[in-house]
Amino acid sequence: MAASRSDAPVVIAVAITGSVPRKADNPAVPVTVAEQIESTHQAFEAGATLCHIHVRNDDESPSSDPEKFAAVQEGLRTHCPGMIVQFSTGGRGRDPAARGLSLKHRPDMASLSTGSVNFPTIVYENSASLVTDLASQMKRYGVRPEIEVFDLSHLHGAKRLVEAGLIDARPHVQFVMGVQNAMPAEEHLLDILLAETRRILPEATWTAAGIGRNQAVVMAWALARGADAVRTGLEDNIRVTKDRLAASNAELVGLAAEAVARHGRRVATPAEARAALGLT
Ligand code: ZN
Repeated sequence: MAASRSDAPVVIAVAITGSVPRKADNPAVPVTVAEQIESTHQAFEAGATLCHIHVRNDDESPSSDPEKFAAVQEGLRTHCPGMIVQFSTGGRGRDPAARGLSLKHRPDMASLSTGSVNFPTIVYENSASLVTDLASQMKRYGVRPEIEVFDLSHLHGAKRLVEAGLIDARPHVQFVMGVQNAMPAEEHLLDILLAETRRILPEATWTAAGIGRNQAVVMAWALARGADAVRTGLEDNIRVTKDRLAASNAELVGLAAEAVARHGRRVATPAEARAALGLT
């Protein structure tokens, strides 16, 4: 897999917003469409080349409104030329039947969870039929999936989609570590996940996301193993240190760029990011 190309430039993905309600302790999280475009533009200038997007209703609850997704995408295409636009089809607080509604706007990518898992307070439900339906819609609209792996079995969920002809044999896979009640952030687990990925999806590109205080350490583990991309952003983590909040998504992207350099690699340009992840 691409992990052997350890001199390849690294894609920095920024998850700008997420689903967790904006509280007094995370005021930097962008919520309105205008805030999201501005925050992403700053992150783009700091080196991010992939933006993972959730949108919110006016009361800040998670939204599936396809027109809001389209508005963010339009702003990014204007202000962040070449940046990879990735819509979330994730579930927290959203009607399962509505999770794919934004795909008709043909973002470059969309997240695709290939199995269910426990989250802090809910079961994150991704039934086999829902996974198949979302993958089918992504295929129909030419949207490249990012496979979200919250558990080892989710890799096999991706493999089944390859065998069914719904995704190609070179998916982009993200291991998500440190979600409470799901997979813990432990280094040896990343090795197990990578070994299994190489065995069943040998052409896959990959990245890893550490949630909360695990963000920086999971990024370092991924870079040490030749990851194609790293993931940061206020969706996953709002702190720079235990005692200091991140001022912006751009600040977290800047820290990711420093981590990339510490590992002797360089940050991908938008064109390099597209090539790395199989986008034209
Ligand atoms: Zn997300």
